[in-house]
Amino acid sequence: MNFDAPAGETISVKPKLLIVDDQAINVQLVLRAFADDFQIFMANNGQKALEICATQLPDLVLLDVMMPAMDGYEVCRHLRADPLTAGIPVIFVTAHTDEASEELGLDAGAVDFVSKPINVKILRARVNTHVRLKLQSDMLHSLAFVDGLTGVRNRRYFDEQLAIEVARAQRNKQALSLILMDVDFFKRFNDHYGHQAGDDCLKQLAKTFQTCLKRPADLVARYGGEEFVCLLPDTNAQGAMQVALALRLAVLACEIAHAQSTVDAFVTVSLGVATLVPEHPVSAAELLKMADQHLYIAKAQGRNRALGVSTG
Ligand code: GH3
Ligand code: MG
Ligand code: MG
Repeated sequence: MNFDAPAGETISVKPKLLIVDDQAINVQLVLRAFADDFQIFMANNGQKALEICATQLPDLVLLDVMMPAMDGYEVCRHLRADPLTAGIPVIFVTAHTDEASEELGLDAGAVDFVSKPINVKILRARVNTHVRLKLQSDMLHSLAFVDGLTGVRNRRYFDEQLAIEVARAQRNKQALSLILMDVDFFKRFNDHYGHQAGDDCLKQLAKTFQTCLKRPADLVARYGGEEFVCLLPDTNAQGAMQVALALRLAVLACEIAHAQSTVDAFVTVSLGVATLVPEHPVSAAELLKMADQHLYIAKAQGRNRALGVSTG
């Protein structure tokens, strides 16, 4: 079947389907039914299923209920509890077709229920419906999370990603860094050059920030009026300070005239850096607060500078 690619996308990628069943024969049956239209992943136990979900983010999971160690209900509850995997739809495939089992499955967060022995036609129809809904929802999601002026991600998207990345960093015992940036004397810039020039300046800065970020997982978002934020997964404090320096210099290199700035002849930014390290897990709110405090100090110390971990 043909899944429509999101608007503007020319490459069509096969949706990802994860098949979870402890019986190889069931996996093979489902695999044959979907191999042509989907990128297939397989797991024969709950733990493995959770690992694949966290790393591959499948578009749909076909989940067996009866499995040793961790049953399907528990897998589903784990998926729902983690913001990274909470949006992945799950269809239970089970020999237990009584109402109580179905209720349990729906309570655990499944979108549908298919009975064993598997009727391939029915399964295919259900899978296609739910994958189509998932891809549509992904597309709406991505459109709703773009900042209208600058084209970078907006605050809502950032807040969502921050929760996901904090959870991921803690699970994988990795560092996570965050950089808050605020344009210096931007009120004066607007007053002097006009609001349209202010808007153009923000657009140019957003583009500049994007070109500074090199890793696919790095994120830049517009946090508020003239504030931007970068989220840098698997990046320690030292790495984040390097990125902050690159961002600051890239802004200077734009040479956007700012006659009313007392810091420089051109537009500058101040940056506050904060890093979550595995040894000291902090919440998303605490990480943001640390970056905000560092930004505040960077402003107080004279602007056009990046401030990270305090050296005391
Ligand atoms: P500081 O160096 O302390 O950050 O001073 P500032 O003037 O940049 O900070 P302040 O918060 O006083 O002013 C921010 C200004 O940013 C005020 C507002 O008019 C302007 N601004 C916020 N959003 C936009 C926008 O979307 N477009 C334009 N043109 N200006 C904006
Ligand atoms: Mg501000
Ligand atoms: Mg400002």
